[in-house]
Amino acid sequence: MTAALLTAAALLLNLSLSRLTESRLLAFETNTVLRHIAQVRAEVTAAETGQRGYILTGERRYLAPYEEAVTRVWSTLTDLDTLVRAPDQRQRLAEMRPLIEAKFGELARTVELRGQSFDAALRVVRTDEGQRLMEEIATRVQAFEQSERARLVARTGALESRATWATRYAGLTVLLALGSAVIAALWFARQKTHAKLFAAERGFRRDLEHQVEERTLQLTEANRELDAYAYTISHDLRAPLRAMHGYADALSEDYGSLLPKEGQRFTQRIGAAASQMEELIQDILSYSRLAREEVRLRPVSLESVVDGVLARSAERLAEAGAEVHVERPLAEVTAHAAILGQAVENLILNAIKFTASGAKPKVRIRAERHGSMVRLHVEDNGIGIDLEHQERIFRPFERLHGAETYPGTGIGLAIVRRSLDRMGGRSGVNSTPGQGSSFWIELGRAGEE
Ligand code: ADP
Repeated sequence: MTAALLTAAALLLNLSLSRLTESRLLAFETNTVLRHIAQVRAEVTAAETGQRGYILTGERRYLAPYEEAVTRVWSTLTDLDTLVRAPDQRQRLAEMRPLIEAKFGELARTVELRGQSFDAALRVVRTDEGQRLMEEIATRVQAFEQSERARLVARTGALESRATWATRYAGLTVLLALGSAVIAALWFARQKTHAKLFAAERGFRRDLEHQVEERTLQLTEANRELDAYAYTISHDLRAPLRAMHGYADALSEDYGSLLPKEGQRFTQRIGAAASQMEELIQDILSYSRLAREEVRLRPVSLESVVDGVLARSAERLAEAGAEVHVERPLAEVTAHAAILGQAVENLILNAIKFTASGAKPKVRIRAERHGSMVRLHVEDNGIGIDLEHQERIFRPFERLHGAETYPGTGIGLAIVRRSLDRMGGRSGVNSTPGQGSSFWIELGRAGEE
C-alpha cells in the first residue's frame, strides 16, 4: 500500500518536474525573443544615427555604427524568425521585415547621395520618408514587445505555479519515503522479535520434549522396578502360602474329627483363602511376566489357539453348561501363541462366568478382517457392561462385582490388554447391559506388513 502511494507520488513528482522544466524553457525562450527584438530596435536606431552623423559631417567614420547595424540586423531578424512561433507575432515580424528593408534602402540611398552632395542627400531626408518608416517600425516593434511581455508574464506565472506543485510533490514523496522507511524498520524489528520468539519457542519445545523423554524413561524404569518388585513379592509369598494351604489341609484331614464344627469351618476357610490368594499371586506373576518377557511374533493360526483353549477349559465349560460356537475358518495372525492363548482363555472364561444366574451361557467366536488386521470377537449372552465402565475394566484389579457374586482377581482383562499391546495389537469391548458383550482383540494378519 505504502509502496504504491510512494510510486504514485514519485511519478507525479517526475511529471511536475518535467512540466516545470518545460515552463522554464518557454520563459527563457520569451526572454531571448525580447532580447532579440530590443537588438533589432537598437540596430535600426544605430544605423539611422550613423547615417545622420555622416550626412551632417561627411566624415566616413560616422558610418561605422551604420555599417555594423546593416550587417547584423538581418541575422538578428533570421534568429527571431526561428525563435518566434506564435502566429500573431510571426505576422508582426513579417510586417516588420519589409519596413526595415525599406528603411535600410532609404539609409543606403542617402548615404550614397551624400557621397555626391550634401544637398541631394538632405533633399531625400526632408521627404520625411525615413521618419515615417522609422515610426512604423517603432510601432511594430512596440506591439511585438508588448505581446511578448504579456507572454512572459503568463509563462512566469505558469512557471511559479508549477514550481509550487513540484515542491508539494517533492514534500509528499519525501514524507511517504520517510513513512515507508519507518514501516520497513518496524517490520524488520517485528520480524526480528518473531525470529527470537520462534527460536525461544523451539528451544522451549526441545527442552520440553527432552523432559518428556526423560520422564517417560523414568516412568518406564519405575514401572519395570514395580513389576520386578511385584514379581519378587508374589514369588516369595508362594512358599509360605503353600505351607499355609498344606497345613490347613493336613489339619482338616488328620485332626478334623477332633475339632468342633466351628473349628472345622475355620480350617476350610483358611484353605479357601489360601487357594484364592494363590490364584491371585499366579495372575500377578503372569501379568508382570508379560512386561519382562521377550515377545517374538510369528504366524499363528487363530483356530488352533481357540481350539487349544477350548480343550484346556473343557471341564469348566461343561460345568457351566456353556454352548460354544466357533465360526470357522478363523484367520492366521502375527502373534505369540502362548500369550495369545492366555488372552483368549481369559475372554472365553469371562464369557461363561458373567451370566445371569440360571441362564445358560452361549458363546460365539468369530473373526473378521479390518484392512491389514484381523479382529477376533468373543461374544456372550451375559450380563453386559455399562458404557462408563467399558474402559476401566481393562486396568488391573478393576472389578464391577463382589467376589461372592462372581469370583475373580480383577487381573484377567489387564492381562488381555497388556498381551495385545506387546504383540502390537489392540483390544476392546462393545456391550449392552442385560444383553451381552462382545470382547475383541485385533492383530496383524499373517503375511501382511
Ligand atoms: P475377573 O474376571 O477376575 O473379575 P477381569 O479383569 O477378567 O477380572 O474382569 C474385570 C471385570 O470386568 C470383571 O470383574 C467384570 O465386572 C467385567 N467383565 C469381564 N468380562 C465380562 C463379561 N464377559 N461380561 C460382563 N462383565 C465382564
